[in-house]
Amino acid sequence: MIIVLKSDATEQQIQHVIARIESLGLRAHLSRGTYRTIIGVIGDESRLQSAPLRAIPGVADVVPILPPFKLASLDAHPEPSIVEVRGVKIGGGHLAMIAGPCAVESAERMDTIARAVRAAGANLLRGGAFKPRTSPYAFQGMGEEGLRILRETGNRHGMPIVTEVMDPRRVELVDRYTDMIQVGARNMQNFTLLTEVGQTRKPVLLKRGMSATIKDLLMSAEYILSQGNPNVVLCERGIKSFDTETRNLFDVAAVPCSKSLSHLPIMVDPSHATGRPDLIPACALAGVAAGADGVHIEVHDKPDEALSDGPQALLPAQYAELAERIRALAEMLGKKLSTPMGAQT
Ligand code: PEP
Ligand code: MN
Repeated sequence: MIIVLKSDATEQQIQHVIARIESLGLRAHLSRGTYRTIIGVIGDESRLQSAPLRAIPGVADVVPILPPFKLASLDAHPEPSIVEVRGVKIGGGHLAMIAGPCAVESAERMDTIARAVRAAGANLLRGGAFKPRTSPYAFQGMGEEGLRILRETGNRHGMPIVTEVMDPRRVELVDRYTDMIQVGARNMQNFTLLTEVGQTRKPVLLKRGMSATIKDLLMSAEYILSQGNPNVVLCERGIKSFDTETRNLFDVAAVPCSKSLSHLPIMVDPSHATGRPDLIPACALAGVAAGADGVHIEVHDKPDEALSDGPQALLPAQYAELAERIRALAEMLGKKLSTPMGAQT
């Protein structure tokens, strides 16, 4: 960390900053320039986290050298991490294809969709049992019954499952059913929830908040990692913008940008990013071309009957066509597609 002093900082103020640094067990290296004086701090920077040096009179700026997300950073782990969800690898050249309806609606519907996406090559099955809806009057998900249906469907079709948890009090319940826990965009900064999922050892799909920076996303991943759970997969699902043509703004640069800062795998979700089936294929392929470690897509056999996010769902045939193109691109890029576990029936 470097502390930049104001041009009119007094000698007394400079000595006060040095004394404060040394009182924390760190060393200060003073460098007097023509216009500015700076102090380099040598030692474990984390000790400064609770010391508001910026508030000391005479201090102009405090510049960290290391990223605040230590465990998520490339310094901690220079090689790309591979997260494994019941045999399906994500990251380090392994591509995940998560597909399924927005919400679990019934056993029959889940079975129809799972059969279709599995045949198309998806290797992870999704479906929400607890839905974060803008309106309290909208369908909120089937709860535990939805988890049971998703579990049974996943087992029947030989697909590991992914489902969202919204409430820290339900982490234990969701953990019992699922293979991968999703933390949705609206809860990306629910720090109690992040701490709770960090205490499980289940892979976590952490979606970027709609108003979160890439660094905010990595700090949220850090919450999970700091609890001892190393299995975090990030997901770019679009951020808020002024344009109403798309549901969100698909930030494809977030993929290589995140990779320049972190070893964690990152997927793309063009369904929530665009909200438009006609734009999903281009954005899915752009995400893979940009280096994404997976593609997360909502599929429904009767979008006009869907209880949530029907208008953005791909039909099974559309998904199959896109999956084929994703596979071809992934192959060209030298990526492997993990095959799911064998079907149990
Ligand atoms: C979802 O995956 O169904 C969902 C609600 O996603 P997000 O949190 O990205 O909006
Ligand atoms: Mn959805």
